[in-house]
Amino acid sequence: MNIPFVDLKIQYQSIKPEIDAVFESILTQARFVGGPQITEFENAFADYICADHCIACANGTDALEIALLALGIGAGDEVIVPAMSWISTAETVTTVGATPIFADVLPGEFTLDPVEVEKKITAKTKAIIPVHFYGRSADMGELMIIAKKYDLKVVEDAAQAHGAEFSGRRVGTFGDVSAFSFYPSKNLGAYGDAGGILTNDEKLAKNCRLIADHGQVDKHNHLREGRNSRMDTMQAAVLDVKLKYLDQWTNARIERAKYYNSYLADLPVETPHIDDQHRHVFHVYVIQVKDRDMVRQKLNEKGVQTQIHYPKSLPELIPYQKLFNSDDYPVAKKLGAMGLSLPIYAELTREQQDYVIAVLKEELT
Ligand SMILES: *Cc1c(COP(=O)(O)O)cnc(C)c1O
Repeated sequence: MNIPFVDLKIQYQSIKPEIDAVFESILTQARFVGGPQITEFENAFADYICADHCIACANGTDALEIALLALGIGAGDEVIVPAMSWISTAETVTTVGATPIFADVLPGEFTLDPVEVEKKITAKTKAIIPVHFYGRSADMGELMIIAKKYDLKVVEDAAQAHGAEFSGRRVGTFGDVSAFSFYPSKNLGAYGDAGGILTNDEKLAKNCRLIADHGQVDKHNHLREGRNSRMDTMQAAVLDVKLKYLDQWTNARIERAKYYNSYLADLPVETPHIDDQHRHVFHVYVIQVKDRDMVRQKLNEKGVQTQIHYPKSLPELIPYQKLFNSDDYPVAKKLGAMGLSLPIYAELTREQQDYVIAVLKEELT
């Protein structure tokens, strides 16, 4: 049996008439930038997350960078980020001229460890970027207490966590501002690059919008320098269609995660935590297993595609190697060595899942 890691083709087939209609109408009107589709999606997504403002932009990395710029973070500032994430979380801190400072993640949860965060705070610390990693919310209770105590800004990296919740509240609404990615394989994915910035702070929202559009408050009236970070009209229209299905798709992911958890319980693997305080939306389903590369190879030989998110912790990457000692981040480092992401999506059938489980059983017992 052949099981792809993600399958965006079947998802398209399931919503084809709606998507095709949207494409045809945009091609007919021939307006590819701006237009009512952008505002419609911004409003729909802000409503979905229960935030006051959404600013559409070109991708999730831009969303982070624009959020940091709008908060006034720059040269001389330190920003605490998790030692395990996609590089954007750290890279954007550097891009705005500040310094990323890594803190290790919690064992079993893989989100920022509040105790480690507090240890890294200095007089220069201006902000923290909790990542709702793999689709599981960071500990926003503890992290917000620390942020208040030390007067730090909080930028949530929610690129992997559309609709994830912490204590019944959607992520993206805890910090000052949050960044979402709509990269095609994210839980809510466009048909190209797209991103969004969410905030309840009106002034910050205005600032983000200015920065994303060359500082223009209206046509040819530039209040400051900014940049071009637009979401295409096509992408906004696609996302607006897909947003209606997001909860259905997310619930299917959660069901499949629970199914994996129950059938992998007896195997020598560590499975993701599922509990009532977190609505984990399973952007990826990551197990930890010994001899990970060999297990991955065996799965691959049997037709089961897997991925690694990510094979190296951030301190192990070339741009950070000289500045940090990766041994200081043992949880992140171990995850890089042992983490294995299994196929998970709404369209994954019971039969396919049983096959993945059977192959793992065969290899591990
Ligand atoms: C995908 C991702 C980003 C960046 O989003 P892009 O749209 O690819 O720029 C940032 N942070 C995390 C944690 C991500 O997974």
